[in-house]
Amino acid sequence: MERHVLAVLTREIFGNVSDSAKLWFWGFSALSTGVLAWGIVRRVRRWRIGRSATERFSWRAGLMNLWQFVLLQRRVRGHGAAGAAHILLFGGFVVLSIGTGLIGVEHGLQTLLGRAPTDPVFHKGLYFAVYEFVMDLAGLALLAGCGFFIYRRWKRPPEVGHEWQDWLVLVLFVVIGVTGYVLEGLRIVLEQTPLPGVSFVGVLFARAFESLGMTSASSSGWHIATWWFHAVLALTVIALFPYTRLLHGIAGTVRLAAGIERLGRLSPVSIEEVEETGEIGVTRVEQFKRWQLIELDACVSCGRCEQQCPAFEAGKPLSPRNVVQDLRQHFETVAMVQPARSAGTDGSAGRALVGEIILEETLWSCTTCSACVDVCPLGISPLGFITDMRRSLVANGKLRGSPAQALQKTDRTGNPWGMPAQDRMAWANGLRVPNVQDNPDCDVLYWVGCAAAYDRRLQKVARSVVKLMQAAGVNFSVLGNSEGCTGEAARRMGDELLFQQLAGKNIATFERFGVRRGAKRIVSHCPHCVNSFRQDYSQLGADLDVVHHTEFLDELMHRGRLQPLAESLARTGATPISITYHDPCYLARVQDVTAAPRALLSRVAGENGIVEMPRHGRQTSCCGAGGGRMWFDDTVDKRVGQSRVAEALETGARTLCVSCPFCLTMTTDGIAARNGGMTVRDIAEILADTLPSQPSEISTSSNGV
Ligand code: SF4
Ligand code: SF4
Repeated sequence: MERHVLAVLTREIFGNVSDSAKLWFWGFSALSTGVLAWGIVRRVRRWRIGRSATERFSWRAGLMNLWQFVLLQRRVRGHGAAGAAHILLFGGFVVLSIGTGLIGVEHGLQTLLGRAPTDPVFHKGLYFAVYEFVMDLAGLALLAGCGFFIYRRWKRPPEVGHEWQDWLVLVLFVVIGVTGYVLEGLRIVLEQTPLPGVSFVGVLFARAFESLGMTSASSSGWHIATWWFHAVLALTVIALFPYTRLLHGIAGTVRLAAGIERLGRLSPVSIEEVEETGEIGVTRVEQFKRWQLIELDACVSCGRCEQQCPAFEAGKPLSPRNVVQDLRQHFETVAMVQPARSAGTDGSAGRALVGEIILEETLWSCTTCSACVDVCPLGISPLGFITDMRRSLVANGKLRGSPAQALQKTDRTGNPWGMPAQDRMAWANGLRVPNVQDNPDCDVLYWVGCAAAYDRRLQKVARSVVKLMQAAGVNFSVLGNSEGCTGEAARRMGDELLFQQLAGKNIATFERFGVRRGAKRIVSHCPHCVNSFRQDYSQLGADLDVVHHTEFLDELMHRGRLQPLAESLARTGATPISITYHDPCYLARVQDVTAAPRALLSRVAGENGIVEMPRHGRQTSCCGAGGGRMWFDDTVDKRVGQSRVAEALETGARTLCVSCPFCLTMTTDGIAARNGGMTVRDIAEILADTLPSQPSEISTSSNGV
């Protein structure tokens, strides 16, 4: 690029626009900003009818969310053409907005420094060339993104929500994009802009106009007319933000910036508040937290949560998208009647929220697998809404049948099986397992859990874990009859009071035996117990160091503590077994543990012996037992998770390896119902089988695990 061309390379801001037209433009701009601000104020007033948050906000998490999910669009990437189109549309919009902002800065500086419109401060030379090129590129990205979404709406796939305002926004974006290029072409003709080729789209329009006989003089009228059309449309879009689907840009950003960590975590309940108000859970929309009402406004009805929902896949009456959208519509109605917070109103706007707007069967269908939360690009938790409403159902005695009986048994006996506490150690018959009372200086507390304590099949898992720990010389103990249900299932079914009662007892037991971070580590083979200790118990003040048995065994293997096992595994490797591994939702998705089980299995099956299912790792699919669904009376063919069993069978592997007692039960039933020739085993059972010989005595060495 020659120096003299660069020296004159610029364009006049507000070129061809008269002073009176500028005044009108600033007037429209103020009006547009005012309408935008009023819309935001209105939304904020609506959000304020909700309860204030009891969760702790994290600025660090908020900034990370904004970086990853807004700027880098992490949850949008990897979702096929729709994801790519959103990145193009969003990227184009952001770049064009920044570009327009820079024009504003240049204009402000010119005014401030008293410069003539033809004497730019920085909008010139090489900067100008790059600017024009990038803006043309961004315009194409915006148009390509809009084009895809218009096409998709035209085709109307069922997962896409359809509202007239979505069409309006897309069409407005397209017209603004196209008129931007037309305007650029007219400006090039009008001003005979040097080096117009850097505006590689605008110059095409300029050449087309010139070929039609347009000259600098004759282009002036067209230019100012197009300028007005383009400006008014752009100002209209700005004003429309809080009133259309574009609201998700504001609400989603606010929600993500709040930075509340969600996966596996339920909103805390204060018993003092429950006693004071007599209310638990949500029966009215204003009982949701404010950030939950913001979530309702953030939802774009993209349907991604629905696509991932195992209950929806199984034909249950649950679509997380519909839950959020139905709540959103209801919220609109209630907010119109009750724009500001006013305690005591029923806010039902005619129909009951729980039971009519959202059906009870819908709420009970959820397995709390967190797939919807993990996949939502706006950080929305349909699961949070569901569990809040479940709490009110349980409080009002609306849960009946076998799940209600499981809760009653838990309340009566401390386990959902209703078995006596004195039978809790039956699983360990023949194994010399130390009780914490006899071995108070242990390094590790092995948390057995109700399922492995009472279910005969699952007892084998606990026995295998013990054998492995003994082989590794781990100084461990169990709580024996002092162990009680964690209350994880009770909490996720909505029985918060029962959960807090059970958790309180366990926390007192932990305190009695000195089980806390830095003193004794808890090892559990149940991802639900692990998550509950980490996320539920911490809300009640417990500070525990908890690991899943796959993490613990992997750690032992790396430290050489399972050396005999490793040698034995090497021998087994001569005849590798074919395994497919099912990631439990609460381990892989909620706790992000996917590598440790695979590292362990690769020692038994060899690198190539593990056949992955299409949905694996964090993208796993639910077995159907979570959220208390284990206790529901579904026949096997109606259970959530049947497609998961089919997927496992399709791998052709001989063994389905799991690392969760509930997954083991559900998949075993599912495979038996299909007469599938596949064995289901916990990872501990597979590893324990390779032990060279059974340990003869209990290790109580203090190796500082
Ligand atoms: S909740 Fe999230 S994933 Fe589901 S439809 Fe709304 S925006 Fe999409
Ligand atoms: S948590 Fe799982 S089962 Fe429940 S709504 Fe979300 S995706 Fe569906």
